[in-house]
Amino acid sequence: MNERPLNPWYSDETPSFLEHLYRGELRWDLISRFPRQDPADREAGDRALTAFSDLLRERVDPVEVDATGVLPPELPEALAAGGFDRLQVPPSLGGLGLSALNTFRVVEAAAGWSMPTAQILSVQNTIGVGPFLPALPPGPLRDTVEARTRSGVFSGNGDTEPQGAANHKRFTTATPTEDGAAFLLNGEKVFTGNAPIAAMVNVTATVREGDSERVRLFFVDTDSPGFRVSAHHEFMGLKGFPSGALTFEDVRVPAHMMMVEGEHNRRLTPELYRRLVVGRVHTIGAPSLAFSRLCLEWARDFVNRRQIDERPLGSYDEIQRNVADTLSEVFALETLTQWCLLAEDQVPANPGFEQVAAKNLTSLTAWRVVERTMALYGAEGYETERSKARRGVPPVPLERAFREARGLRISGGVDFMMDIWMAHKAVFWCYYPLPANAEAIEAEPDLSCLDEADLTEANLDHLRFAVTGTKTFARTCLELARRYPDQDELFEQERLLIPLTQIGNELLLMSLVLGRTSSLGTSGPQSTQDLADVYCAQARLRIADAWRRHHAADSPAASRAAGQWLSGERWADLLPDMPGDASPAGK
Ligand SMILES: Cc1cc2nc3c(=O)[nH]c(=O)nc-3n(C[C@H](O)[C@H](O)[C@H](O)COP(=O)(O)OP(=O)(O)OC[C@H]3O[C@@H](n4cnc5c(N)ncnc54)[C@H](O)[C@@H]3O)c2cc1C
Repeated sequence: MNERPLNPWYSDETPSFLEHLYRGELRWDLISRFPRQDPADREAGDRALTAFSDLLRERVDPVEVDATGVLPPELPEALAAGGFDRLQVPPSLGGLGLSALNTFRVVEAAAGWSMPTAQILSVQNTIGVGPFLPALPPGPLRDTVEARTRSGVFSGNGDTEPQGAANHKRFTTATPTEDGAAFLLNGEKVFTGNAPIAAMVNVTATVREGDSERVRLFFVDTDSPGFRVSAHHEFMGLKGFPSGALTFEDVRVPAHMMMVEGEHNRRLTPELYRRLVVGRVHTIGAPSLAFSRLCLEWARDFVNRRQIDERPLGSYDEIQRNVADTLSEVFALETLTQWCLLAEDQVPANPGFEQVAAKNLTSLTAWRVVERTMALYGAEGYETERSKARRGVPPVPLERAFREARGLRISGGVDFMMDIWMAHKAVFWCYYPLPANAEAIEAEPDLSCLDEADLTEANLDHLRFAVTGTKTFARTCLELARRYPDQDELFEQERLLIPLTQIGNELLLMSLVLGRTSSLGTSGPQSTQDLADVYCAQARLRIADAWRRHHAADSPAASRAAGQWLSGERWADLLPDMPGDASPAGK
């Protein structure tokens, strides 16, 4: 029986809301006094934002950068001079010493203006080398990283390899030299953010230790002999973002530049995983919120200047719903951000699982918002900002935002893959071995939180749904764990797992939205009851759809048809007149 919470970041003092939800219990006590940013901290963030916005507008023309794919060469230096490359680093090392939420706000502001600039900042400030400082013990590695940080150099993380990031194995190898003083790194990395401007990168590599192989993290100077940026990537969006492929040929790295961590059997080292989980709130969550807020503003601008059949566009039912959905989703993303970045100090709760869930919740919400706003704008949505400027209509960069938002569903992990991993590592972590609270999962739901919640009737109904839905979710997981004593057999059925993770995510964000709304009360200018109602009504539709997909997952026809196509056995006649190569690029 599973007696202990298995979330590695869990402690009794800082419970995990999402882990409890996975186990069938909606902990209203944790979310009903919803965390908010302290006013003094907000002011500190405002000051940094003012200085940052000035720099951004002076130095970066986002339209020009998008058209040419070139950022101003002096930009990294200007960012470092303002301390923006060290947002959370203490002032003693030249940093701004900002809180996590203010760091998020700076990245969000950057994304709202220039996504490649936001990406440079978020990589640097969350998964570059400086962010590892708090985890490094005293010694030569810490001294070196501290010195690099103080001198204001850029850095990045090289983990993805040409063979695919989803592989458990890392094909880059680190072989100890005979005298044990160093390692020789050999291999390739791709899509390493900031690589072309980095003085140092942290890189995963496989080390043979006794009879086993283990992934370790190495801090590598980019001027080391044998290190090369072998290609520069260009993307659908992010034009100008310095992203590179790396080649390592017998790169000698002093032994002390390997981060010493305990035994583990993961694709990523424990500390890199922790940095990535928090980092994605910034690299993915902050741009997601920025694009969603922009769309909210753009939607009002467009709707208020349009008449159809002599009626204001905003008077049509479907348009009002379009705008209300975006409004409620901006509120939901803000809510999730506050929870992910403030709950640890203020509740206190451990938001580690929620930070993982935030990757998909934020990027998929932003994608819905941008896509919906593009539909609202009609042809003007699909038209580029330059074309609009030429003919004198407001040059809203919706087409650019659309390209940027799509990438957020891929970088840091493809969305459906994140759902699969979340099912393995978080949801069913609570069910293998079978949980000790099986009886509680099977008992009637405890609806006493409805008496405490400060919610309208409509929102009380949503809360009732969330509490009972949490039970249904947990009962389904329990039933699956009993039906499949061997978890690997269950994990083979990915189409069954993906909707389950999505249901967990939806229940999470519904609950947080209701918790925050309850803490703001039912009346007065602060009340957000309508936004919560709109958000939860849509979330319930998505949950109903996910349950249908979960129940329809068993499809032998799909695996038969895919197998026949992939092996070349059948269906060639479905490509009768295709021209062969899809692109002449590179010829
Ligand atoms: C803009 C951008 C910035 C990036 N920045 C960085 C960076 O700074 N550092 C870095 O290291 N990487 C970076 N990446 C890489 C990114 O994290 C990976 O592209 C992403 O994790 C997907 O990995 P992959 O492209 O190697 O696809 P793969 O892992 O090869 O996967 C290919 C496809 O197979 C699917 N798949 C894989 N395994 C399974 C399975 N078991 N079941 C079902 N489907 C499966 C995947 O979901 C995907 O659809 C960046 C990528 C982008 C686009």
